[in-house]
Amino acid sequence: MQAWVIGNWKQNPATSHDVDALLNDLLTKVDAKNQAKMPTSNSQCKLMVAPSCIHLAAVSARLANTSIISAAQDVSAHSASIGAYTGDCSAQQVADTGATWTILGHSERRQYHKESHDCLINKLSHAFSQNLGVVFCIGETQEQYDNGQTLDVINEQLSVIKDMLVQQPDLAASLSEKLLVAYEPVWAIGTGKVPTVAEVSKTHQHIKQTVAGFADMADTVTVLYGGSVNADNADSFAADSMIDGALVGGASLKADSFLAVADAF
Ligand code: PEP
Repeated sequence: MQAWVIGNWKQNPATSHDVDALLNDLLTKVDAKNQAKMPTSNSQCKLMVAPSCIHLAAVSARLANTSIISAAQDVSAHSASIGAYTGDCSAQQVADTGATWTILGHSERRQYHKESHDCLINKLSHAFSQNLGVVFCIGETQEQYDNGQTLDVINEQLSVIKDMLVQQPDLAASLSEKLLVAYEPVWAIGTGKVPTVAEVSKTHQHIKQTVAGFADMADTVTVLYGGSVNADNADSFAADSMIDGALVGGASLKADSFLAVADAF
């Protein structure tokens, strides 16, 4: 299975100067690894970074013709193209920057922007209509984890994909290429707490089987783990065959720690 390591920069860095510095450091170190034929260059691991929408065009331009892919963190639910939606960026506008993927359904968007089931169906449809790949984030809260509800929550969140396919069955054929699922327990994001590898593995197996059932994909959906992944714990996640990569927040803001996670996969 193709491995992916994706940096979610969230509302960072503060200035375009800092974005340039991070990108330069990243590209210099990836080049050095390629020259030295170190793990990142040899492995199958694909790298992606998702800057804020204000920096997306510059980052996409800088990453054109490099091995690193650029992605948005969200697209508008209201229109795939243009319209009177103040503050939104459409999937078409994202694609126009040269970005080829978008994150959708991150827990911070679900929490702070109240993204609903129907809103996420629209976002997925709009992204796919503009030929963007989607990193679809799911995961339970601490309370849901404590109550043993992880798989129920995940089933509910994955039903967005099922319902989107009911509306647009033609998308099923390309889903294994255009969709990555990121399992991110909310309680593990930015907290330094992580589930055990065995717990993540079991949940990923469930996600793969469930999505395969929607789209007849025979277990081919890629599932990444996210939540406090760093240079120290990445190896343990990478060692499990159900964990196809990582969605990385805090540790993606430094080239060294991001590439250390990539080297693990
Ligand atoms: C995230 O928010 O997607 C994430 C994984 O964050 P962190 O790595 O900082 O926990």
